[in-house]
Amino acid sequence: MSFDYDLFVIGGGSGGVRAARVAAAGGAKVALAEEDRYGGTCVIRGCVPKKLMVFASEYSGMVEDAQAYGWSISSGAFDWDLFKGKLHGELDRLEGIYRNLLKNSGVESFDQRAKLADPHTVELADGTTKTAKHILVATGGWPVKPDIPGAELAITSNEIFHLDTLPESMLIVGGGYIACEFAGIMNGLGVKTSQYYRGAQILRGFDDEARGLVSEEMCQAGVDLHLGTNILEMRKEGDKIWVKATNGDENLFDQVMFATGRAPNADNLGLEALGIERDRAGAIVVDQYSQTAVPSVFAIGDVTNRVNLTPVAIREAMAFVETVFNGNPTSPDHDLIPTAIFTQPEMGTVGLSEEEAAQQEPIEVYATSFKPMQQAFAGRAQRVLMKLIVSKATRTVLGCHIVAPGAGEMIQLAGIAVKMGATKEDFDRTVAVHPTMSEELVTMKSPVRTA
Ligand code: NDP
Repeated sequence: MSFDYDLFVIGGGSGGVRAARVAAAGGAKVALAEEDRYGGTCVIRGCVPKKLMVFASEYSGMVEDAQAYGWSISSGAFDWDLFKGKLHGELDRLEGIYRNLLKNSGVESFDQRAKLADPHTVELADGTTKTAKHILVATGGWPVKPDIPGAELAITSNEIFHLDTLPESMLIVGGGYIACEFAGIMNGLGVKTSQYYRGAQILRGFDDEARGLVSEEMCQAGVDLHLGTNILEMRKEGDKIWVKATNGDENLFDQVMFATGRAPNADNLGLEALGIERDRAGAIVVDQYSQTAVPSVFAIGDVTNRVNLTPVAIREAMAFVETVFNGNPTSPDHDLIPTAIFTQPEMGTVGLSEEEAAQQEPIEVYATSFKPMQQAFAGRAQRVLMKLIVSKATRTVLGCHIVAPGAGEMIQLAGIAVKMGATKEDFDRTVAVHPTMSEELVTMKSPVRTA
């Protein structure tokens, strides 16, 4: 049987674009459909614009610090319009690069929604159908809002990059990556920022000591963080949004943002009719080769809800191409993934938290928390944390947790050592780079505790 294409990809985000262009570069005839902008969540409404906003927000304290270092300068106001214009110009440029990557690899793209019609057929929004030997679903995820009265008044991370004006006050609901990152960003941009999180401590699942320090530093920096607090209802009151919280508080905010999780983008794709299973969270169920229950249909990235990070979707894309087009069955490796949360200060982490490791085997904990030189000299009370979790039996470093400015950059490198299975003694025989913050990772002599 002959098909229009060897591969049809649905979704032009990080995973879909990578799979399409690598398969095409290897000689496959490939098409891709995207209903929105090319680049997906990461480029258009996630990692990239978020990081640029983190950079923008971090300048607010720099003038004060520069003054403390002897510079006679004064700070002006932040110009949201100017920044927003440049931000969207940059996103347009990046989207253009993504489109060109596809074009230059010979991938045919369709700027419309696509869904599955049968195991080898995709139906486009204009009614045309295309056949393919393999179909890859890489449709990502989408923010979800809790079902409470007035929820429609709140924005999500999709809209935050498009605000007409920077609000004077803002409430952020949630305690995950997105909520904590935007609490820091908005606070840094001068917005009076409140955050409600329903649990006992933000960043559930990460190392307790590390998330405790992030939480403390966020409060110290001015975020009005309310733990054990959720939103009950909201309604419009004049120009503002009235919010009632579970603790009885009633407040007015200019904006409310829900960062209460993301759901796989898998509705109305024709999956159910083909017998492609979805789990309780709505994610497409795949095996270790990203294959669904229908052998010609594969899925990668956030729509499979495995580890929802751009570099992981890209790895899954590469493993898919290797498996399907290079005859070399390859599973994406989801073990020991380093990651950073761009809070202020940042958290970088790889491997097990102290709590997870202690459940698993006897451990030693090496940790130090101190005021870093640069900020201490400027008179800031800010502290950082360097922490290693070590197996008592094998001496292997099971986890590394860093809370510090630049922790994202540091954990990428520490991640190599941890991925290689480095022991505490391997860390110790590495000479310190002095004076830095991360040198503490190779100079911690005695465990602070064992468990
Ligand atoms: P998360 O799943 O990380 O966090 C969702 C948060 O919302 C949790 O604190 C959760 O609370 C809370 N929540 C869920 N439902 C409700 C509700 N009904 N009412 C109140 N609170 C609620 O999702 P995010 O949206 O922050 O991020 C999605 C994913 O995107 C992340 O998991 C990550 O994989 C990825 N990401 C990665 C980034 C990075 O690498 N730097 C940056 C941004 C996103 P509870 O803890 O109690 O469940």
